[in-house]
Parts: sequence; C-alpha cells; structure tokens
Amino acid sequence: MERYETDILIVGGGSGGFGAAIRAARHDPTARILLIESLQMLGGTSTAGGVNNWEPGIGGPGVHYELYERLSQQPEAIGVAKTVHFYSREEPYGFSRIDPESSYESSLRRSATPRLDWRRVHFEPELMANLMLEMLQSAGVDVRFGTRFTDVQVKGRHIVSVVAQPSDGGDPYEIRSKLYIDCSGGGHLARAAECQVSFGEEPYDLYEEPSAPETPAPIVNGVTQVYRVSKVDSPGVDPLPEAAQAPEIQQWAAENNPATAITEYPNGDLCMNTLPTMQGAEFHGLSYEEAQRISHARMYAQWHRLQTQYGFDHYRFHSMFPLVGIRESHRLVGRFVLKEHDVRAGLLHQEHADEVIAFSDHALDTHGERRVKGPKLGELEQPYGVPYDCLLPQEYDNLITASRGSSFSHIGASSCRLSRTMMALGEAAGVASALALGQNQLYPDVSIPQLRSELDIPAFTEKVIREWNL
Ligand SMILES: Cc1cc2nc3c(=O)[nH]c(=O)nc-3n(C[C@H](O)[C@H](O)[C@H](O)COP(=O)(O)OP(=O)(O)OC[C@H]3O[C@@H](n4cnc5c(N)ncnc54)[C@H](O)[C@@H]3O)c2cc1C
Repeated sequence: MERYETDILIVGGGSGGFGAAIRAARHDPTARILLIESLQMLGGTSTAGGVNNWEPGIGGPGVHYELYERLSQQPEAIGVAKTVHFYSREEPYGFSRIDPESSYESSLRRSATPRLDWRRVHFEPELMANLMLEMLQSAGVDVRFGTRFTDVQVKGRHIVSVVAQPSDGGDPYEIRSKLYIDCSGGGHLARAAECQVSFGEEPYDLYEEPSAPETPAPIVNGVTQVYRVSKVDSPGVDPLPEAAQAPEIQQWAAENNPATAITEYPNGDLCMNTLPTMQGAEFHGLSYEEAQRISHARMYAQWHRLQTQYGFDHYRFHSMFPLVGIRESHRLVGRFVLKEHDVRAGLLHQEHADEVIAFSDHALDTHGERRVKGPKLGELEQPYGVPYDCLLPQEYDNLITASRGSSFSHIGASSCRLSRTMMALGEAAGVASALALGQNQLYPDVSIPQLRSELDIPAFTEKVIREWNL
C-alpha cells in the first residue's frame, strides 16, 4: 500500500475540522497539514446537512468573525435574522427572517436574554463551503475530498497510521502522521482505535447529573432531514411523491405534526428543519440508506401539510440536503467529561474553569424522546466553557478530538453541540497541534495557559464577565 507522511492529519472537514485546520496552519505555516473529508465539500452538517444557520449564542473569540465578515462582502451570502413567528400548537413552525437592522454582535448571546432579542445567522451553504476551502488552501492545507478514513493502526499510546479510501475507486493508501485530529462528528477514528466511548443516556449513578434517568438507554438526540424550498410568484402546491403517500408515512405526519424551524436565506428561499424527522434511537437502528429513504418520505409529507394547512403555498420544494442531520451519536469518554453540572454552574463556578478553551450558552435541548427527571432541561442563566481535557482521549497521546463526538455526557452534548462551539473546539485542537509540533510534545503535555493565551480565552472571559454582568 502506498504511504503518505504528514505532520497533522485531520479526519473530517465539518465545523470542527475547518476550525482545526485553519488555526493549525496559520499558527505554524511550515507544518504539513492534511485534511481528509468523505464528502465533496467542507462544512459537514452545517453545509451539506442543511444546518445553514448559527444559532444565537456566545461564539468565543474565534474565526467565525472572519467567516461572517468575508461572506458579508458577497451578495446574498449571509445575514443576521430575527424570529418573526414563534411555534404554537395551532401553527407548528418558527420563522426566522433576515433583518438588515441586526448586527452580527447581536447574534452572540442567548443565555439570560429574552427570546425576542435572539438573533441567528443564516448563510448560503455553498458559499460558506467555498470560503472555507479558499481559506484553507491559502493557508497551505492539503484538502482531499472524497476520501474516507477506514482503518487505524496503533501501538501503545500512539496512533501509528490510518488507511484512507478514495471514493472514486482508487486504491486505499496509508497515512502516517505525527498528530491526529478526529473531527468526524461521531468519533470514528477514536472508536476505531478502541477509545472508550458512550452512546445514549447515561444513568444517574454514573455522573450524578440532576436530570439523568435512573437507568441507561440508547436514546440520543433526534435526527432531522433538512430541505430547502424556493419562493415563487404564484401560489400552488407541489405534487406529493408516491413514497410520501404510504399509509405509515401519512400516519407519522398526522400523529406527530412536528414543529419546523424555518430560516430564511438571504435570497428569500427557506431552510426547513423539522424537530425531529426521526427519533435518534430509531435512526441508529437502521442502515443509513433506509433511514434516509424514510426521512425523505416523511419530509415530503410534512412539507405537504405546511403547504396545504399552514399557508406555505408561495414556496416550491427545491431539494433535500445530501447529508441526514445527525445531532448525536457516539461520544468520547475522555480525560474529562462535560456534564450537566458544568453546564448549569457556568463560567464562574464550573470545574476546571481555568482550562476552558471554548464557550457555549445554548439551552440544554434534546429534540424528541427523552426520559430526564428532576430540573427541566432548558435555557441557561449564563455561559459555560469546555475544558481542554474534553478533547483528549484517555488512551492515546497523539490523538485529539474536536467535534460533537468529543467528551460530553448526553445531557452536556445537548447544549454544547452547536456549530460555532464545534468550530472553537477545532480551533483549540489546531493551535494545540501547532504548539505540540513546535515544542516536540504530545497533546497531554501542551501548556494549557499558553494554549488559552494563543486563543485569547482569558481576555475574552474577562470581557464576558464584565459586559454580561455575571
Ligand atoms: C438537524 C440539526 C439541526 C441543528 N441546528 C443547529 C443550529 O440551528 N445552529 C447551530 O449552530 N447548530 C445546529 N446543530 C448542531 C451543529 O450543526 C452540529 O453539531 C455541528 O455542525 C457538528 O459539527 P462537527 O464538526 O462536529 O461535525 P460535522 O459537521 O458532522 O462534520 C463531520 C465531518 O466528518 C466527515 N466524516 C465523517 N466520517 C468520516 C470518515 N470516516 N472519513 C472522512 N470524513 C469523515 C463528514 O462527512 C463531515 O463532513 C444542528 C444539528 C443538526 C443535525
């Protein structure tokens, strides 16, 4: 098998993978950085999965500012939006419309803020993906699309190499790297290397989370097949595809009539995010293809209801996004697990506050089935941070993770999984990689104060505490 050598290998080019690659390359322009991505575009769930929206929330001092600034200079690429319609039982959709009066800064807070003041950021997925690629290429990152990680070789506490499989039928090849960053979403590299992982709800006894159920269960956050519809001049209703007419699909739509989070694109099209399309446990019990087939049929049926019962007849179906939106699958059980207490305690009181490398203030929020007890999941009083050790597996020293598959409990993940936070985890992993390379170290040896200072975390934390009156 042919062999390729590099300094930093990043598996997966979603929000986490992009953050990791850009920061590693800018921090150490001499490092050889390779990013492999199984799709043909960057951005992962946030682009190909149709999640073309950054929810309101603390973004941290990261590269999201640059993405926003640069996309703002392109026509109809990005906009800040506000909610103009809230869900109700009678009208089961929320509608977030571009608001030219709203500043980007206003999208950067959610906790302790009235929901009328929340602002989110909507963007065109291809333009976002293209900008990400342009930034990585000009920073010197080698990006290989259509390339899937399939296997790993380990020795002691080291990942030795991985096998990459091109999707065009080319021969698999071996990649040997000094450092590895798993940004694959579901922790695919960490799992293949047999790191300890978790799936589903953890029982109360494990972490003593106030809302955890007594017993474990394979219940994960709901899955959504996002789709796009386009504005048209004359009213009308799209024909209902045959698959959506099946009795079980119609029954699902009538019984559930799930809420849809609707976000407007800068050109007036709509992004339709139904909450959820399928329970997480059901999705993970099916093959991806079968789950996608059912999800498509359900979404055609749901769109039909929105057109015929809720007045969306000035829009026509445009497309399903190629990637089914998976909110949660396997999560690493790393050196530290972010738990409900950390999320609720917030920046001022959480454990390892002086090791925080990224922030979130999104609600504790699982879509679909849940068995939580005790205090209700919901909005937070203040932001909290993700400590560096949430990125590190217990088993290896040259592997770090930066994605929704990093080390969070099921309840912790329900809050911190948002795109800008995942990008910030990636940025921390990227800078940690550059520091480790420069000092001939491995991830556990990286100086956390130095990492935080490079990421501007202490100054940002002080600013938030002061300006948000925490
Ligand atoms: C339906 C839905 C709605 C959401 N709503 C919002 C929202 O409104 N706002 C918000 O901010 N966040 C939202 N989120 C959360 C957020 O979008 C995700 O948590 C975030 O995008 C995940 O980023 P990631 O980098 O961890 O993973 P991903 O974006 O999933 O990236 C992982 C990448 O790894 C690639 N990959 C996987 N396996 C391999 C392999 N073996 N080899 C090579 N490449 C591989 C994948 O193709 C993918 O590109 C939502 C999520 C979902 C699913």
